[in-house]
Amino acid sequence: MSRKFNFCAGPAALPEAVLQRAQQEMLDWQGKGLSVMEMSHRSQEFVSIAEQAEADLRELMQIPANYKVLFMQGGASSQFAMLPMNLGGKGGTANYIYTGIWGKKAIAEGQRFLPTHLAASSEGNGLTAVPRQQDLLISQDACYLHYTSNETIGGLEFDYIPEASVPLVCDMSSDILSAPVDVSRFGVIYAGAQKNIGPAGLTLVIVREDLLDQAQEGLPTMFSYKTFAENSSMYNTPPTFAWYLSGLVFDWLKNDIGGLDKMAEINRRKASKLYSAIDSNDFYANPIQPQNRSIMNVPFTLADSSLDKLFLQEAEAAGFLNLAGHRSVGGMRASIYNAVPEEAVDALIEFMNAFAKNRG
Ligand SMILES: *Cc1c(COP(=O)(O)O)cnc(C)c1O
Repeated sequence: MSRKFNFCAGPAALPEAVLQRAQQEMLDWQGKGLSVMEMSHRSQEFVSIAEQAEADLRELMQIPANYKVLFMQGGASSQFAMLPMNLGGKGGTANYIYTGIWGKKAIAEGQRFLPTHLAASSEGNGLTAVPRQQDLLISQDACYLHYTSNETIGGLEFDYIPEASVPLVCDMSSDILSAPVDVSRFGVIYAGAQKNIGPAGLTLVIVREDLLDQAQEGLPTMFSYKTFAENSSMYNTPPTFAWYLSGLVFDWLKNDIGGLDKMAEINRRKASKLYSAIDSNDFYANPIQPQNRSIMNVPFTLADSSLDKLFLQEAEAAGFLNLAGHRSVGGMRASIYNAVPEEAVDALIEFMNAFAKNRG
């Protein structure tokens, strides 16, 4: 067996130790004679897996007691609509900060349910820097302010948490758990699991309890945060295996890595090496302002884009997978989430330097 270096933006690399443990437990989970996939979600066994995962996540992110953790489905994309449904019931305007493609999709869904207002936008600088706090124009009647902490496609990341007197909502799909964050600053945090949490199929929502009565009237049961909050996310059958595997990732973060401070230190080192390699010659480029360069998703271009195909071919042959940029923007992108080991980044840099030398 030889596992390659996987830089996929999502579904993304998982920690090898987690996959090994899942493999060991696959046929017979802890001597119970069945796999997690075959368990009733209401069994004592699965309930203990679910509760442990939530407890570990709460400890890792230091989630205050007045927040609910919801284990949902439908991806971050469903949250784009569930947010206005669940927070817009008392009227008001949904406010958004626009910094890239995912934020744009969130706005488009918001508009289907509520009047919306653009509080700030990075359009003026070509999506190369996030708006500063003093540039935010939040409307008087805002029912929430939404932003995307890390734009996965552009590689643009907030270097601060916006200040707002209304509930702050954040799409943290691609940088949740990459560093410590003060959860108490937020009304809602949500993330699809397949970047930095676990396998696809699970969507995490962290919501402040007092916001659970802001929902629009007559929501379908399964679109209501309250349904999930009141039923420990088990009103219906949850994505049990994805929940279990995410729990193994939380355990890995806690016990193998040593928590989010440690994880952040490693992530910053990985990203800073890669950006240095990109900046150190004229062969590669990244357009993002240094303070907003993502530590998770590193897009880069070749000065001569006619070499793109060759770069990707040679990279793949050398064991570096999924380095193509998003289909909407082209170029390259290395996603270096928590589970991508530092050795993978070191090896990629070596490959990039050699390629530049041979073809530059
Ligand atoms: C991947 C991604 C999404 C979409 O996630 P799905 O789970 O596929 O719906 C939304 N927002 C951000 C920031 C993402 O990275």
